[in-house]
Amino acid sequence: MFGDLSPLLIGGELVYGPRRFGTLDPATGDTLGEATDAAPADLDHAIAAARHAFDSTPWATDPAFRVRCLRQLHDALTRHAEELRELTIAEAGAPRFLTHGAQLDAPVADLAWIADLAEDYLWEHDLGRAAPMGVTSERRVVREPAGVVGAITPWNFPHQLNLAKLGPALAAGCTLVLKAAPDTPWCAAALALLIREETDLPPGVVNIVTGADHALGARLCADPRVDLLSFTGSTATGRTVMSAAAGTVKKVFLELGGKSAFVVLDDADLAAACGYAAFAAVTHAGQGCAITTRLLVPRDRYAEAADLTAATMRKLGTGDPRDERTVCGPVISARQRDRVEAYLRLAAEEGGEFVTGGGRPEGRDRGFWIEPTLVAGLAPGSRTATEEIFGPVLVILPHDGDDDAVRLANDSPYGLSGAVHGSPERARAVARRLRTGTVSVNGGIWYSADMPFGGYKQSGIGREMGVAGFEEYLETKAIAEGVR
Ligand code: NAD
Repeated sequence: MFGDLSPLLIGGELVYGPRRFGTLDPATGDTLGEATDAAPADLDHAIAAARHAFDSTPWATDPAFRVRCLRQLHDALTRHAEELRELTIAEAGAPRFLTHGAQLDAPVADLAWIADLAEDYLWEHDLGRAAPMGVTSERRVVREPAGVVGAITPWNFPHQLNLAKLGPALAAGCTLVLKAAPDTPWCAAALALLIREETDLPPGVVNIVTGADHALGARLCADPRVDLLSFTGSTATGRTVMSAAAGTVKKVFLELGGKSAFVVLDDADLAAACGYAAFAAVTHAGQGCAITTRLLVPRDRYAEAADLTAATMRKLGTGDPRDERTVCGPVISARQRDRVEAYLRLAAEEGGEFVTGGGRPEGRDRGFWIEPTLVAGLAPGSRTATEEIFGPVLVILPHDGDDDAVRLANDSPYGLSGAVHGSPERARAVARRLRTGTVSVNGGIWYSADMPFGGYKQSGIGREMGVAGFEEYLETKAIAEGVR
């Protein structure tokens, strides 16, 4: 798409080099090529360009033009879907089957939904005439773009994460600087290239910077020219982002980590539920914030559930992400593999037993791989059972009925997602009691353009996608005009 070196997008120009860093194929460990490594001065120019485009061009006040640009971007991404698919598989290690959904095709399609939403959105509400404190006034509430957005994303679903910020921010009339993850610069740069070459998005409305150094993100958070931070990443980094934003009291919108529970009630089809749980836990090598990584099963069927789950995990195994049948590909990097392996050692120290997995898969000597792993025998409060691992590692715990399952599921600092399997009425009742932003009941899929996604507790603040996700990028202005 861009030869061996990917560019930044700053003020409408593609900027190549001179600083560079490598990007890898996690399935092989081979270098794919290089990305431009943004210097602090590049970030500074990007923020200045976004500020100028917001303050001094008609972008923020022309919804119809914005809708047209969003549709152009949607069309450009659709035209290049096959190139983007191969790029995403190569750089993110995303299994091919996922690129037909949340890794690529779904977030591209979601842009069309957000363009439609912006086209029909009621930007003003007439509240009519009233006489507060005896002064007759005509009152209106106006929704306006929040301003310059600093968007910071991780690597696990690069297009979904980048587009779920970019689409609504642009639809709202904001301008933005997107600081992409160091592990997936090419996915972000592909967007830069298509915006530059195939849309009428004016210079400075979208700026995209890639870099090896996390400090770029920190600078973006602290910059007083940025009005809103839209961050997705770990809860630890989210805390840093929030405190950096406090200096200039920016709006912050945080999508953070999780350790979500998969609850199997005693009247569920145990084999089917365990199959679902195993599949969910190893998809994309467990590198999904909303993946259910704690499996809660009835105590008297604990051993049976562990065997059923482990059997499916073994069957799924690991595979080349280019193969359509692969569910569990590589983890993103040597650093991520080391992190997961440290948790596997911890699991053993904490008294856990590997029902299956527990190390690197045999025969995969290149790239970064972890076997699908099921850990039994842990205490619910152990670190392995409570901390986010971000690998294909599932912890199985027993529960003593619906109330106990709800208590265990909610006994977490996180509150991102969850799943419940059981007879419909009971499963629905349990779903209502989970303190999480999304819940799947009996295999339902909550991911859609019109469904809000986000976390309770330390899994985040605010919602992405849906109308709620769009409105994160708006301010509210109340105007009252005196009537004589
Ligand atoms: P991370 O927090 O290490 O990094 C995320 C992004 O933040 C990267 O672009 C990184 O360069 C940047 N960053 C790092 N330090 C920063 C700082 N001090 N200030 C500003 N930016 C900084 O996360 P990761 O390891 O890349 O991604 C995995 C994490 O992301 C997991 O915790 C996962 O649950 C979470 N995640 C959440 C969602 C969600 O929607 N809730 C979605 C995907 C991933």
